[in-house]
Amino acid sequence: MAKIQMKTPLVEMDGDEMTRVVWQMIKDELIAPFVDLKSEYYDLGLVHRNETDDQVTIDSAEATKKYGVAVKCATITPNAARVEEYHLKEMWKSPNGTIRAILDGTVFRTPIIVKDITPFIPTWTKPITIARHAYGDIYKNTELAVPQGSKAELVVTDENGNETRALIHDFKNSAGIIQGVHNLDKSIQSFARSCLSYALDTHQDVWFAAKDTISKTYDHHFKDIFAEIYEAEYKEKFEAAGIEYFYTLIDDVVARIVRSNGGVIWACKNYDGDVMSDMVATAYGSLGLMTSVLVSPDGVYEYEAAHGTVQRHYYKYLKGERTSTNPVATIFAWSGAFRKRGELDEIPELCDYADKLEKATISTIESGIMTGDMAALSTLENKQSVSTEEFIGAIAENLSKLMV
Ligand code: NAP
Ligand code: MG
Repeated sequence: MAKIQMKTPLVEMDGDEMTRVVWQMIKDELIAPFVDLKSEYYDLGLVHRNETDDQVTIDSAEATKKYGVAVKCATITPNAARVEEYHLKEMWKSPNGTIRAILDGTVFRTPIIVKDITPFIPTWTKPITIARHAYGDIYKNTELAVPQGSKAELVVTDENGNETRALIHDFKNSAGIIQGVHNLDKSIQSFARSCLSYALDTHQDVWFAAKDTISKTYDHHFKDIFAEIYEAEYKEKFEAAGIEYFYTLIDDVVARIVRSNGGVIWACKNYDGDVMSDMVATAYGSLGLMTSVLVSPDGVYEYEAAHGTVQRHYYKYLKGERTSTNPVATIFAWSGAFRKRGELDEIPELCDYADKLEKATISTIESGIMTGDMAALSTLENKQSVSTEEFIGAIAENLSKLMV
């Protein structure tokens, strides 16, 4: 069979530790036999980031802007221990943070659903996608401890030096604490556009929730911006696609989500998204089954697994011990990127390959062959916990049957 040819290159961002090992296995066994991979390769492994003073991360994000689609391996975010381990010149910033800042995107996390791995909420038969606004609020706050007898105010000074003041609290009877938070119209607008575009792209409803009944200016502003953008730019497209956008209170959405079957995009403010994505990930099972895509408001896509570099498994691997690391989320990052590239470049065979890669992966698991993390969750009787190599080998076999 002739290999599928690509037109525009994919931006390939290689990474660290166990996921870097898995990355190569996926390329060798699941991609190379079927696709003539055209990629622009950026090595975001920590060694190379250090060598390039992290310029490679910036270059990879710029390339993503240029070509439109990237696939990224998990990478180490250095801490003090890593600075020592890798003899780093500096404690380089999180690559994901750098890339997100350049692409101005929103991160969508979606679980992969497999038969026989039942979510802790068994009625969640379809995936719930969490879209987290990744700018501002308490993540860019200013906090102070306030001694008794003080008075705290908000002060805004305009460009002409005029002050507007509002009392936060008079601490005459007790010491306490205060916090200042902000957000930007531009950032909220990008967030709204990313969510609404991704909903059209994936044909799902969007629920957006905040606490506007209590936060009558701050949270209400989010609600207003979403409503304006929806009305002006998306309403007709949503109606034509038969999907829905609605705003409701965060309390209400929590109740609705628990009673739902999934299959929606839940747009969250920064803190809500931080907490709810952990709740949703846990409820669906394994971190190894959680995918993630960064979508910029102008339609640039970066696909990855939600988990990290699986360091503990890597140290076992280095000692020559058997590992059973789940490659599924990383495989789906590749399939997502191929499908998007295929859509943009009008290469139906590439989209078809992406579908079959996912199908082969799911059917391997459903036939009882899976990695240890999935075996621990699966209710199948004849399941087998296999090594990463064996699992990818079994997927490759199923895939070649589908690709004839
Ligand atoms: P992690 O790599 O996500 O792994 C945490 C634990 O979750 C693992 O030890 C493993 O549990 C389980 N796990 C995660 N992914 C798995 C998979 N694919 N298959 C099987 N089990 C899986 O998080 P971490 O250990 O906290 O972080 C390691 C490094 O990753 C850090 O340097 C961090 O900076 C980086 N990180 C990167 C990203 C990213 O690039 N997007 C995201 C998060 C973290 P068991 O050990 O119990 O088997
Ligand atoms: Mg969190």
